[in-house]
Amino acid sequence: MSMRRYWNEEIETMSRKDLEDYQFRLLSEHLALAYEKSQYYRQSFDEAGVKPSDFKKLSDISKFPFVNKHIERERQQKKPLLGDMTAVAEEEVVFVSASSGSTGVPTLSPFTKKDFEEFQDVQSRLFWAAGMRPNDRYVHALNFTLFVGGPDVIGAQNLGALCIWAGAIPSDRLLFILKEFQPTVIWTTPSYAWYLGETAKKQGIDPAKDLSINKIIVAGEPGGSIDATRQAIEELWDAKVYDFYGISDIFGACAGMCSERNGLHLVEDHILVEVINPDTLEPVAEGERGELVFTTLRKTARPMIRFRTGDIGTVNREKCACGRTHARINITGRLDDMLIVSGVNVFPSDIEYVVRNMEELSGEYRITAITENFTTKFKLEVERALGNQEPKEVLAEKVSARIKARLGVRPREVIVLENGELPRATHKAKRLIDERNGGF
Ligand SMILES: [Zn+2]
Repeated sequence: MSMRRYWNEEIETMSRKDLEDYQFRLLSEHLALAYEKSQYYRQSFDEAGVKPSDFKKLSDISKFPFVNKHIERERQQKKPLLGDMTAVAEEEVVFVSASSGSTGVPTLSPFTKKDFEEFQDVQSRLFWAAGMRPNDRYVHALNFTLFVGGPDVIGAQNLGALCIWAGAIPSDRLLFILKEFQPTVIWTTPSYAWYLGETAKKQGIDPAKDLSINKIIVAGEPGGSIDATRQAIEELWDAKVYDFYGISDIFGACAGMCSERNGLHLVEDHILVEVINPDTLEPVAEGERGELVFTTLRKTARPMIRFRTGDIGTVNREKCACGRTHARINITGRLDDMLIVSGVNVFPSDIEYVVRNMEELSGEYRITAITENFTTKFKLEVERALGNQEPKEVLAEKVSARIKARLGVRPREVIVLENGELPRATHKAKRLIDERNGGF
């Protein structure tokens, strides 16, 4: 068995200078391709008065117009099936994924044969960084229907792991697989990892002792990067949790945690990242929180130039202790889920951080955004931990004070429920309910 540390050492450990030179060369060609082959980009560059030849250094990317989900959807509908952002003929496209999109028509993300092979090679690289090896048994418990995470099982196979194509199946069947085949690695969402572990316990299976899972790869929710959430899942399973990030619009495999688990390495030989202030659209200072903007560097079926992801996070370009030089991202929430309360940006992940760090609580929570006197407020429901006997008012006040200390604002109200009263999520947890009329 190979004992190498990296899947692709040359690419993953190149100096920042070489990496940025490499990105510049790739992007110069990619912008030219977009302008020459995509009807949409030709039009949008012309309207903005920029040409690929204006790109003389990496930071010149800021001269080019942004794209977003709305534009992506509109251009797709304008010229079905794939839209006019594409840079190849449909006959060259071999795969499409669709984004789950919370609203409206799903948007399709096309891949050529080469795009798809590169996507899976990057997936192998990210699995390898998380410690997956050919002697692992991997159970792929993600949805296969149009979901961009579906094909990632091929990345695990190409790495050499024994792969079990489970898909999104009922938890009883999945637990049967875990018991009978004793896989060592599973991929799911943080809420489902928690749910599945609790369900196993109810059936008399102790996930920490009776099952062999030692790595849980999670994506789709911020929980995988919230220490307290990760620790709770890790204790339940006696396994390590690795956060992962991918978006259909760009590439399935965008970033994943290495053994250091201090941020997610972004595949910078495929994606250029910028961090902007979502109000001014200007770049934020190095290391500050903002909206992540991605530009593809080599996905030819449909280039994405300055795609506003709607994800809020930070980027760290310092070399990691694992030896990799690719920047690490940390996602703290979605722009859509951000509440502005008394001028403060409140993300559900900030609340989760507080709730999961209090021993008095079960860790489950639900936020309801409301409008009061024309401004946004939020109510917070939490559950007491099993065995906790404190008066509910005392507990509610404690939660409220902790939130005030971390976020700078208090919830309008904290409601303490008994253990088990909040609904348990299976896949993506619905933890924010918006009852505001007209939004903010
Ligand atoms: Zn690392």
